[in-house]
Amino acid sequence: MAKAAGLNPRVVIAVDLFGQPADYYSIMEIAQVYRLKVLADAAQSFGATLDGKRVGTFGDATATSFFPAKPLGCYGDGGAILINDHSIASVLESIRMHGKGSHRYEHVRVGINGRLDTMQAAILLEKLNIFDDEIEARNRIAARYAQALSGHVVTPEVKSNARSVWAQYTICIEGGRDLVAERMRAAGVPTAIHYPIPLHHQPAYRDQLRAAPVLPIAEMLSDQVLSLPMHPYLEPTTQDYIVEALVSAVTS
Ligand SMILES: *Cc1c(COP(=O)(O)O)cnc(C)c1O
Repeated sequence: MAKAAGLNPRVVIAVDLFGQPADYYSIMEIAQVYRLKVLADAAQSFGATLDGKRVGTFGDATATSFFPAKPLGCYGDGGAILINDHSIASVLESIRMHGKGSHRYEHVRVGINGRLDTMQAAILLEKLNIFDDEIEARNRIAARYAQALSGHVVTPEVKSNARSVWAQYTICIEGGRDLVAERMRAAGVPTAIHYPIPLHHQPAYRDQLRAAPVLPIAEMLSDQVLSLPMHPYLEPTTQDYIVEALVSAVTS
């Protein structure tokens, strides 16, 4: 479609939405045919695996986020880029530090301030020690949701060769989603919509599209998705309350 519109695509950005890796095998196959770079957005999937291989080992470079809401969150802003090619590393280090050259006060490119704060790094080092336990806990909680909610709403599926880190536990409600969310709120259960506006309808992109995308599934899902509370310390009694509130919200 992009080629037909006279564009010359160079990069695919794969997004590991909700905590499980994107379908990297299919993406890499297409990328190879068209000689595209593959950048992985692993903001929601740090710690996830595909056939036992960790996110961060797919594609040409992987970006992740340590924002507090992410599976491995610090207490403010933070992130990392994972790469295998050391020639890229020095360029990224330069960009991170205002485009520095051979020393701090020489600038060879226009960079940014992308330094990870030392305090955030200290928090991440501590949290990294318990990260695997937290991923296990998230998976336990997700399995419990799936069991309790099956037959009531559409529950998320993880590919058989993948391990998710459950950045979100996002269900689909095929009609009346907003009313269900409102009833949940009234019962004291916070929910969120990830995401209400599909990318191609975002004002920042909408007017720049040269090939009008037809993405009916994205549009449908933006009306159906609802994320439930999900974190490694969700107690069974709290989760039972959430489930009860949801089942009663969808059936009443
Ligand atoms: C949170 C998130 C980002 C942005 O992370 P920042 O730390 O705010 O830069 C990018 N992509 C996805 C999929 C995210 O969930």
